[in-house]
Amino acid sequence: MAKIQMIDGQLQVPNMPKIPYMTGDGVGIDIMPAMIEIVDTAVYKAYKGERKMIWTEVLAGEKAFDETGDYLPEATLTALTENLIAIKGPLMTPIAGGFRSLNVTLRQKFDLFANVRPVIYFTGVDSPVKHPEKVNMTIFRENTEDIYAGIEFESESTEALRLIEILKTDFGIKKIRFDKTSAIGIKPVSPEGTKRLVRAAFDHAIANGQNRLTLVHKGNIMKFTEGGFKKWGYEVASDYPTFTVNAFNSIKARQGIEAAKAAKDQAMADGKIYVDDAIADNFLQQILLNPSDYQVVATLNLNGDYISDALAAQVGGIGISPGANINFITGHAIFEATHGTAPDIAGLGVANPSSLILSSVMMLDFMGWHEAGKLVKKALATAIADGQTTQDLGGNLTTVAFMRAMIGKM
Ligand code: NAD
Repeated sequence: MAKIQMIDGQLQVPNMPKIPYMTGDGVGIDIMPAMIEIVDTAVYKAYKGERKMIWTEVLAGEKAFDETGDYLPEATLTALTENLIAIKGPLMTPIAGGFRSLNVTLRQKFDLFANVRPVIYFTGVDSPVKHPEKVNMTIFRENTEDIYAGIEFESESTEALRLIEILKTDFGIKKIRFDKTSAIGIKPVSPEGTKRLVRAAFDHAIANGQNRLTLVHKGNIMKFTEGGFKKWGYEVASDYPTFTVNAFNSIKARQGIEAAKAAKDQAMADGKIYVDDAIADNFLQQILLNPSDYQVVATLNLNGDYISDALAAQVGGIGISPGANINFITGHAIFEATHGTAPDIAGLGVANPSSLILSSVMMLDFMGWHEAGKLVKKALATAIADGQTTQDLGGNLTTVAFMRAMIGKM
């Protein structure tokens, strides 16, 4: 058993890595064992015993609180620090205990700057649109900045009133419509924060042979924050083999649309990534109207929150979408079920483990264990296509029966 390490920017994965897992609250106890058994089966089938996960439970959430009096014990943080990669079930948000959210605490603690959400359609899942199969996108949502940084002051608080006063007296701001009662939120967006996220999105596109990347922002209104994201995003694009919409437009202005289209087609045939940007509200229309036009999406925190849920709903997959929070520089990564603790069905053995299972596929891919990841993903797709599903997807299988159905497809 050895540790996964990041050496010179490369993740080094031993054949028997220790993988900490957090069962999580609520349905965590139903879905975590199913995921582990499926991954173990796939890893065995792919590598015949040469590789193996050494699963190690670490505590977080209610279980941690019951056993240690702490929602996120130091021992858990140490294990995550040392082993880089972990996987987790859903965690309830403690009402007391000084945490805003355990998930947010984990993201901040390990500076997990990219929230990665792949969205694809699985045949057999009910979707509200006619062609959900046209969706195949990966969202890179910036995870540490924006209005989510949590710098907010309540209406009429001393802090809000003082900030409003400073804005008026020091900056000559006259635009605050209700200056006695406004709550105030602050939106930090930096070139460093933007560029590391956009680089991760480009690296993902290249590693997966994708040739389309879109920067989504609201820079028409928020010129320096969201507009900055767009500007810095294009700066990163110039470090990669790309053909940008700006190049397209300048050829179009000089030589006409046909010449611009030909140049774009040639660039893409040469393996370049076509990069453009979209205003967030228009983008939400475009993903409904022309979803196959988009592949990798890099966006700010709040936009990313809306877009990933909208897309997951479009493919009928809000309950089965996976996610990961990753620091691509240090290698720290937490893969997770994106749904909540589902208290209404927790412990009944009927929860759908697909979100956690698909996040394990992301984990296997991140580790470079693609063969095992493919086996898991294919088994899940086949089980769902054959109508072997849990109740939330219209079937009648228990969590364990669904797991067995999947294992039977490997
Ligand atoms: P939820 O996702 O727990 O439940 C919403 C609905 O979806 C419920 O009807 C539930 O039964 C169903 N559902 C969720 N997961 C399912 C699964 N795997 N299989 C079948 N059905 C499933 O959302 P909520 O009720 O708003 O939140 C409950 C708790 O979860 C809260 O404490 C919240 O803070 C927490 N939460 C945690 C995370 C996380 O850890 N990533 C995410 C969202 C919510």
